[in-house]
Amino acid sequence: MSRFFIKVAEKSILKYDFCQMNSKLKEKIFKDIQAVADRVETETYVIGGYVRDLFLERPSKDIDIVTIGSGIDFATEVAKTLKPRPRVNVFKNFGTAMLKYNDLEIEFVGARKESYQRNSRKPIVEDGTLEDDQNRRDFTINAMAFSLNGDRFGELVDPFNGMDDLNNKIIRTPLDPDITFSDDPLRIMRAIRFATQLDFEIEDKTLQAIARNKDRIKIVSAERIIEELNKIIMAPKPSKGFRLLEETGLLAIIFPELQNMKGVEKVNGIGHKDNFYHTIEVLDRLVPNSDNLWLRWSALLHDIAKPKTKRFVEDLGWTFHAHNFVGVKMIPKIFKRMKLPLNEKMKYVQKMVGLHMRPIVLSEEIVTDSAVRRLLFEAGDDIDDLMTLCEADITSKNPEKVKRYMKNFKVVRQKLKEIEEKDAIRNFQPPVDGDLIMETFNLSPCREVGLLKDAIKEAILDGEIHNNYEEAFAFMMKKAEELGLKAKD
Ligand code: ATP
Repeated sequence: MSRFFIKVAEKSILKYDFCQMNSKLKEKIFKDIQAVADRVETETYVIGGYVRDLFLERPSKDIDIVTIGSGIDFATEVAKTLKPRPRVNVFKNFGTAMLKYNDLEIEFVGARKESYQRNSRKPIVEDGTLEDDQNRRDFTINAMAFSLNGDRFGELVDPFNGMDDLNNKIIRTPLDPDITFSDDPLRIMRAIRFATQLDFEIEDKTLQAIARNKDRIKIVSAERIIEELNKIIMAPKPSKGFRLLEETGLLAIIFPELQNMKGVEKVNGIGHKDNFYHTIEVLDRLVPNSDNLWLRWSALLHDIAKPKTKRFVEDLGWTFHAHNFVGVKMIPKIFKRMKLPLNEKMKYVQKMVGLHMRPIVLSEEIVTDSAVRRLLFEAGDDIDDLMTLCEADITSKNPEKVKRYMKNFKVVRQKLKEIEEKDAIRNFQPPVDGDLIMETFNLSPCREVGLLKDAIKEAILDGEIHNNYEEAFAFMMKKAEELGLKAKD
């Protein structure tokens, strides 16, 4: 065992396979960098997320290299020795350079010292030592570095005991957390994101500082916030992140509509479920069945209008009338503010939210062909996603109830399959279109064309006629006669 391994082994409980990790560092690219570092006599380290992920055995393709001296000059030297020679992408303003080599993205930066001003998360940057550079890192687990020089190759430089925090699954800032978070409040979101992604706990002092500095999040751009929020949503158990956001007071600032869902109101001793906890449970339940970010957003927003539509009605109890439709209307404003895309992704979320009650209503009644056809028509190709969302929406604590719903959903799914095979409604194209209607009756675009088109669609969805040209044409002729239209000779 080398000197380095013994040093690490003494320092913390050996939970990770260091030999395997060492062999990773022996990957050719690190040897190539070592050769250049030694030749140009530059102190060089691999640092940050790559080092953390080596220990966590999370495969990573992003490598951050820190040099004591110019990162750009060093990257240029490294590029010259690689075959095929990669292009050096220089970001002069940031003092960084990036190489794409095989499937790796390697970023080079000179070690730096940062100082911050109150109204910006953009630091004033000066050249610094490795220690300065590690001090500016967000968390102890993200501040570890491996030396790449000479016989120090593979030596871990871990001034804040990041290894211990990795072993104990702790998120902690290297320096005073109040300063770390106030300097760059994006780190607040990153702390919660890492805790959620890695299933780590945020150390108490760090967590308290997050709550104290929550208002600083206002200087962070919506784009950066949403990047972190989406990573929380894509984590194995997103509810953990949303609980942390709520407990620290951040949710009320970045996502007030979701915050409003928390709490239970009572009238005459009758309460309703807490829609915040219900929502994040639905999101967790969706995770094993879908890694579609937008379906996960649909889960997050499916009941978003419940606070707005909540009423207590004598004899009925709590109602949330039309909360699905009101929810659909709320979505564009939320997406716009959060800098989420206002394109077909948003339309998909709106569709899911608008339709999320339909399968459950269907499953509670006798499942008629016509109701199934209508649902297929409206959901189209997204019908399977809608069913997946609705199945996740069953969060009752009563196992009998859950069993009953799941059984009913099975019936709905089966019926959907049968009807689709028979009637091909999913991608409904009218068998008789507007052009043919206009040509048959010698019409230019007018109200009657719309009426006929609609009547044909409704007749198909109701099962009055089949979804084919002959029956649709005959139906059109009959309807036209009722409207007093005459076919041209
Ligand atoms: P991921 O790839 O999952 O986002 P990462 O830790 O690799 O995780 P990057 O954003 O690539 O994240 O950052 C690389 C490293 O840079 C981090 O590990 C951390 O040391 C440092 N870092 C990134 N953002 C900040 C920040 N806002 N404040 C301080 N250090 C940061």
